[in-house]
Amino acid sequence: MQIAKVIVDIPAMQTNRPFDYAIPPAMEHKLGKGMRVEVPFNKRIIQGFITEISDHTDFEGELKEIIQPLDIEPALTEELLLLGEEMAETVYAYRIHCYQTMLPPLMKAKYEKEIEIVDELDEGTFYGLFQGKSKMSWENAVDRGILPQLIELKRAGKIEVNYILKNQAKAKTVQVYYSDLEMDSLEDAYRSLKKSAKQQQALLAAIMSMNGTPLTSKEYKDQFDIGSSAIRTGVEKGWLKAADREILRDPFKDRLFQKTEALPLSDEQTAAFQTMGASIREERHEIFLLQGVTGSGKTEVYLQLIAEVIKQGKTALMLVPEIALTPQMVNHFKSRFGNRVAVMHSALSAGEKYDEWRKIHRGDADVVVGARSSIFAPVENLGIIIMDEEHESTYKQDENPKYHARNIAIWRGQHNHCPVVLGSATPSLESRARAQKKVYTLVELKGRFNQRALPQVEIVDMRDEFKANNRSSFSMVLQEKITDRLQKKQQIVLMLNKRGYSSFIMCRDCGFVLECPNCDISLTLHMDSKTMKCHYCGHEEEIPNTCPKCKGHNFRYYGTGTQKIEEELQMLFPDARILRMDVDTTRKKGGHEAILSAFGRGEADILLGTQMIAKGLDFPNITLVGVINADTSLGLPDFRSSERTFQLLTQVSGRAGRAELSGEVVVQSYNPDHYAILFAQQHNYEGFYRTEMSLRHKAGYPPYFYTALITVSNPDEKKAQKKIYEIHEILQKKLEPDTIMLGPSKGSIARVNNRYYFQILVKYKQETKLHPALKQILDESQKENARGLYISIDSEPVNFF
Ligand code: ADP
Ligand code: ZN
Repeated sequence: MQIAKVIVDIPAMQTNRPFDYAIPPAMEHKLGKGMRVEVPFNKRIIQGFITEISDHTDFEGELKEIIQPLDIEPALTEELLLLGEEMAETVYAYRIHCYQTMLPPLMKAKYEKEIEIVDELDEGTFYGLFQGKSKMSWENAVDRGILPQLIELKRAGKIEVNYILKNQAKAKTVQVYYSDLEMDSLEDAYRSLKKSAKQQQALLAAIMSMNGTPLTSKEYKDQFDIGSSAIRTGVEKGWLKAADREILRDPFKDRLFQKTEALPLSDEQTAAFQTMGASIREERHEIFLLQGVTGSGKTEVYLQLIAEVIKQGKTALMLVPEIALTPQMVNHFKSRFGNRVAVMHSALSAGEKYDEWRKIHRGDADVVVGARSSIFAPVENLGIIIMDEEHESTYKQDENPKYHARNIAIWRGQHNHCPVVLGSATPSLESRARAQKKVYTLVELKGRFNQRALPQVEIVDMRDEFKANNRSSFSMVLQEKITDRLQKKQQIVLMLNKRGYSSFIMCRDCGFVLECPNCDISLTLHMDSKTMKCHYCGHEEEIPNTCPKCKGHNFRYYGTGTQKIEEELQMLFPDARILRMDVDTTRKKGGHEAILSAFGRGEADILLGTQMIAKGLDFPNITLVGVINADTSLGLPDFRSSERTFQLLTQVSGRAGRAELSGEVVVQSYNPDHYAILFAQQHNYEGFYRTEMSLRHKAGYPPYFYTALITVSNPDEKKAQKKIYEIHEILQKKLEPDTIMLGPSKGSIARVNNRYYFQILVKYKQETKLHPALKQILDESQKENARGLYISIDSEPVNFF
């Protein structure tokens, strides 16, 4: 008997291992590793992944049988199966979550409930409740409000609830028509037709000329001018048979791509290309940190490295942060490599994502370009993995499994014996420190392509503006420069730094701030929907007219949204054409793209946006970049806040003066002397790196220490607090003496969605006991888990609130 080892879709500690199932005789030698299957588990039918086929089991009872496969070929490659197993360990996640994360959302299991009659019912109930059928769907029962009656029937043992597993992953198909008749029979049919049956003659002639090839009715129309009624006749007479042909939804099908050729590289680019190309040719795993200033031409280097990989008959994975995955970026790859590029990002519909995934899975893509989750693309025979803007925090997933795409990239690079290229103008301190220690190979592009100058950066002290009685959001200097560019018909980019920034309302009389009823955080004002919203739990309510506390009428709006800035800007420059880019204007599919291309076509003078605009823009006519508020991100309770601010300012400055026209940047700040702002002004990464490293050293933060964040939450504050102290005590006994624990403390937002949060940050250098200790804590908390306690462990957390 063949046995399949299956990871089942029940995310819990006890089920976080393969279970043995018997393979029924009809399926023997047909199932394989990586296939999704339907299996019985505790009276339910659920989805699982086969991780191994064996002829041995240690299970002593009678094995349950696999019900049926959900795929006819493995969904996960052997590489991904292995990756999921190892990843689950390092990120403290369940294996089932890791496997599900690797697949497009349509392939996630979806369960439906149905109610089935299992014992005789009286006629009234059978016809009344069940409408004369033996089953009904759960939704139907809910809609008709008959659950109370059903509970009675269930108690009486008359009905059962079945769980049905739905396979949502359906390929889109079109109907095609083909003929399986011999030529002789077709000719006979042709001869027996009446002279007047012109359409049928034409159809038979066409069928004969097609030699069995299936065509859609549209193709019959286009190629032979044969209408659908003739095709229907053909089917009736048995000349044609109908079948479904799978089609791929191509999100880029309407766009034309002009083929581009490799550009001659500059000396610096050539040197970089040579260094990294060697490891491609030698099929050697090596990690490169490609540090190149903004506008140094990293993209062209990526393109040529990928071309090299394709020449070897291998594939390439190109990761780009979600917001930098602009049409401009995609164009670079599609134009160079044509149809064999697959693009995966969150703006695609579920169907499109599934189709792009299948294109890769079938081996029809040599290059995959995508955001974080495409690091799991099922490409085989990888020749290079490139991660652009490697410092971006969005490469770390905040939810389970809390993986960092960089670590996955390195794992896959090792597995495939291929290089990994981490590119950035402002590398993360972690990566740069590893390059310093020669763990990564540092490759630099120090100048902009064509020796273009980096833009001049001017810092404006906003406190002086206030003193000079300028109450506008725009300093006099910035206003003058905007006027100047408008006159010269050059383009302007303005950024409002929304990080750590929100618009809230406060009562001027009593100081009351409107807070979320479920979370300890103030509600944010949304002008588009004219409501107050909670960004954590989604709670939404009307903007109050009077203060709920003192009944006063003096509400004031604090904080500035892009919309308000836009209004102000339009008042100052009534003739300027302004485009606004923020979450509100880009929510619609393609909204992001529409705004950027309109700006690219010169349909606006000013592009005003959030940090969305800091990346990837490469428009020659931008000569002025303004940062309206540089500091809001500095005040966050996060040891990376200076690093983030430096990176953001450098990135956004990099948008100016990328072509013939030289560029200028104005940074408005209330902390003009902060080192992150000063080093960004001087385009001085090295200076920033040294200063920040010494601060991290003193405070004992990464990259000098590793970190792990343990969070406990519970609807009952006391229980959460008790648990975190227990954990603290256990760890204190087990961990090395030089390991530091910060906390226990309240979460930076103490209550979210009516759950109370407590946390401990562990900082350690060498710690062999931490991992087993944490595993044990997770194991032992299983029972409490069912009673509302959650423990989450984030290894190397990126967001602290
Ligand atoms: P980065 O990603 O490093 O900020 P880009 O890749 O956007 O820089 O390149 C900056 C500009 O230089 C782009 O407009 C690009 O088309 C141009 N460029 C880069 N390399 C070359 C080359 N070898 N020949 C011609 N133009 C180039
Ligand atoms: Zn809330």
